[in-house]
Amino acid sequence: MTTRYRVEYALKTHRRDQFIEWIKGLLAVPFVLYSQPHGVFEYPPSFPELGTSPPGSPNLVLIKAREEAHRRYAEILHDVELMIEDHIAHQNDPDNPFPSKLKLLVPSIGPFFTRLPLEAAFKFQDRKRYISSRRFVSPSFNDVRLILNSAQLISVTSTTPGSTLQLATFDGDVTLYDDGQSLEPSSPIIPRLLDLLRKNIKIGIVTAAGYTSADKYYARLHGLLDSIATSVDLNPTQKRSVIIMGGEANYLFQFDPTSEHLLSPVPRSEWLTPEMLLWDERDITQLLDIAETALADCIKTLNLPAMLMRKDRAVGIIPSSPNIRIPRESLEETVLCVQKILELSSAGRNKRVPFCAFNGGNDVFVDIGDKSWGVTVCQRWFSDPDTGKPIKGENTLHVGDQFLSAGANDFRARSVGTTAWIASPAETVELLDELGELMGKKMS
Ligand code: IMP
Ligand code: MG
Repeated sequence: MTTRYRVEYALKTHRRDQFIEWIKGLLAVPFVLYSQPHGVFEYPPSFPELGTSPPGSPNLVLIKAREEAHRRYAEILHDVELMIEDHIAHQNDPDNPFPSKLKLLVPSIGPFFTRLPLEAAFKFQDRKRYISSRRFVSPSFNDVRLILNSAQLISVTSTTPGSTLQLATFDGDVTLYDDGQSLEPSSPIIPRLLDLLRKNIKIGIVTAAGYTSADKYYARLHGLLDSIATSVDLNPTQKRSVIIMGGEANYLFQFDPTSEHLLSPVPRSEWLTPEMLLWDERDITQLLDIAETALADCIKTLNLPAMLMRKDRAVGIIPSSPNIRIPRESLEETVLCVQKILELSSAGRNKRVPFCAFNGGNDVFVDIGDKSWGVTVCQRWFSDPDTGKPIKGENTLHVGDQFLSAGANDFRARSVGTTAWIASPAETVELLDELGELMGKKMS
């Protein structure tokens, strides 16, 4: 699964990758100036005719180039770190009408909940990925994405008062398990999630997969749910610290050891936010009707090997048989087309009901609400029992894979908490190990 999409769009407004591309561009300069690709010829075993240094001796050109590249990359990331701090000062100052320098340079930049220690994160990732040692491949989009993730983890586990992680929310497909699969008992993610619970972190699984009954979520998440149920070292409060927010923001289930599928549904009246209570059923139906018609048109226009699927809080298209792959360009075209039609419709223009149209990898769905609402519900569900205050954005981390493709449903969570962008369940494992290590350091 690649995280780089190279599709050209007529509508550029949804591009989320500008910040990463911008940092990548900054790092390209020292790469070009200091990477020393000719240093490769200094290896005597491959080029004995050069005879520059005795076999087995260290390649001093390469060592020097690596040190120089490392120093320059670290300096640049330190400077970006300072720019983010300046941006945070601007965003937190309602009396300052001027945009920050970062906002001027990267207009699509969003709010920051925490500072980002990019220099330290780079040093960590450089030890893992040998970025400064490369002479032919410059710091890539993925390098920068992973540096940003590490910086976010360092920040949410830092010793600064008030910056502790309290809630971790996870997307399902591609984040916890491969697309369309389930969280099996053997998944290496499970012990790591249990470890978070042991550290009293709350967990929300905020997935677009929308089912009205517990058995369907049990089928997708049984490995995790069974492990929690049989765990002997988690206390009852920790066990109840897992919720599932399905259909992005539509169905809430709580871990319940007494129920057949280890989950009990929570009635909407118990968790809808005051804003969500205003979503009128007639508006919802109207929006889904328009989306359904638009999706049906796309099936026809693009001759998609797909069929419609209407649900009570979503409508989508799925492949007409499980082994068919719908071309990515067709999926992206469908999302952008449906999104525009919905935005321009009377139901969309009055903005009474938010929605999220997204490319799910081999399907397209339009959900009522989006993951920013889903994560908000989790923050409220786990409100402080003493003060009644919801968990704040700076104490929340949402982990997901969809930050770039059309609709990018995980990207929406960026407006209510910190985020980490992973590209596969294996990367989630690495991320959780990094998080566990940082939290361990903080506790010791
Ligand atoms: P996520 O990655 O956990 O957010 O799951 C997204 C996937 O869930 C989509 O790509 C669909 O394959 C699947 N899905 C099943 N039901 C729904 C629904 O009601 N809305 C959106 N996605 C759904
Ligand atoms: Mg996903």
